[in-house]
Amino acid sequence: PFEVLIVGGGPAGAAAAVYAARKGIRTGVAAERFGGQVLDTMAIENFISVQETEGPKMAAALEAHVRQYEVDIMNLQRAEKLIPAGADGLIEVQLANGASLKGRTVILSTGARWRQMNVPGENEYKNKGVAYCPHCDGPLFKGKRVAVIGGGNSGVEAAIDLAGIVKHVTLVEFDHKLRADEVLQRKLRSLPNVTIVLSALSTEVHGDGNKVTGLSYTDRTNDEQHRLELEGIFVQIGLLPNTEWLKDTVALSPRGEIIVDERGATNIPGVFAAGDATTVPYKQIVIAMGEGSKAALSAFDHLIRHSAP
Ligand code: FAD
Repeated sequence: PFEVLIVGGGPAGAAAAVYAARKGIRTGVAAERFGGQVLDTMAIENFISVQETEGPKMAAALEAHVRQYEVDIMNLQRAEKLIPAGADGLIEVQLANGASLKGRTVILSTGARWRQMNVPGENEYKNKGVAYCPHCDGPLFKGKRVAVIGGGNSGVEAAIDLAGIVKHVTLVEFDHKLRADEVLQRKLRSLPNVTIVLSALSTEVHGDGNKVTGLSYTDRTNDEQHRLELEGIFVQIGLLPNTEWLKDTVALSPRGEIIVDERGATNIPGVFAAGDATTVPYKQIVIAMGEGSKAALSAFDHLIRHSAP
């Protein structure tokens, strides 16, 4: 068995692996896709001390750093079930290929995925104007026109945030009213360079082959088609944690995030969690790495307290 078994190989899992391996304990990482969301990212400009890098480059660097140590990397492995420790003290993780892995401690770092609009052009122009993270990509649209899709708290927060950077923001909401907290809505309505469009169904992302040039939507009150000319579209209709496989075992928040305490511990003894899959707010690479490191140190602490002398 592993002393630390990590499920998920994004920034959180990679950081956990390095911290665990440096304690000289047997460490394994099982990941569906080593690198995680970073593989889908273009420019990264907020990884502190690295002024600018690219996602695939960072993913390769994560893997190279983990491979400096004796870590068993099991890539292209999807976990399907977690079974808490029995009398033998081993936690079991069952994989989609039928195999199962065991660990004295387990760190869950399966990340999250952004809900997409699923309209023509969205995938084609991802990273070419279609964005999901205002903290990451907002500054790339300085002085430009953008739309924010979604009028919940994250959409309205994104619109307020972006209004301070870009030339103009159009907030596009499907429902006939915004769902964000009243205080956020008030702030949004006070901004001079924000337009709010309600009852709007986004139908297509337009582009010139290289980058986004517009967004079409249907006014649901009269079925009229409209087209916005703009350079960026921030989709803010939900971040879905990759935790469906845990819902029968680990305590999750109403949004499906793994509930962790300040040490990264879950409700199951010996099981820790880190990164975008957890209740820790602000889904960012530096935060995921910090949380992954913390979870590994907590797992090590658990091992020295619970293993036979
Ligand atoms: P993830 O990166 O999501 O990794 C999860 C890992 O778990 C992957 O290896 C995945 O394959 C694996 N996994 C999932 N389910 C299972 C399963 N059942 N079994 C086994 N393995 C599983 N952040 C920034 O700080 N700066 C940026 O500029 C930035 N830009 C971004 C741009 C885009 C387009 C996107 C999508 C995100 C961006 N982010 C950015 C956010 C950042 O990528 C995430 O916060 C970070 O990757 C979270 O790390 P994580 O390790 O928690 O999860």
